[in-house]
Amino acid sequence: MKICTKCKIELDESNFGADKGKKDGLRPDCKSCRKEVSKKDVKPKKHKIEKPKSELQLYYENKERERKEKNAKWRLDNKDKLKAKRELKKEEKKIYDKEYKIKNIDVIKLKDKLYKEKNKERLKEYRDTNKEAKREYDKQYKEQNKERIKERDRLYQQRKRLERKV
Ligand SMILES: [Zn+2]
Repeated sequence: MKICTKCKIELDESNFGADKGKKDGLRPDCKSCRKEVSKKDVKPKKHKIEKPKSELQLYYENKERERKEKNAKWRLDNKDKLKAKRELKKEEKKIYDKEYKIKNIDVIKLKDKLYKEKNKERLKEYRDTNKEAKREYDKQYKEQNKERIKERDRLYQQRKRLERKV
């Protein structure tokens, strides 16, 4: 048996780690005390130290900033040109799309047909659920806006009457 120097509890030798430097070949503190220590012994996080930037890095950053500034200036100087270019591109795309449609009308139609065929059930289901939802919505709307609808109808009738007179 051996007394732990930390917790002062007498324990069996098997509770102590080996330490060749010691007379009895065992560590002075028991294993569970050692565990406590190593738990507490978590290294504090090192503060991140900013490394000074290297010459090359600075050079690169400078170049990058210059490039960005130049780009921004160019864009500003060419605002109108760029806008015109965008418009042209849009126009081009429109024509292209139209052309594509004309060229491929058969394919598109066929695709559409196939899609509808494939999704017949799903589309029908979708429409049905939608119908149901819309009906419910209309009902609720009417319920909640009774007065407003009444007033609207009244005004509408009034206007009609006036129009007839004129
Ligand atoms: Zn101990």
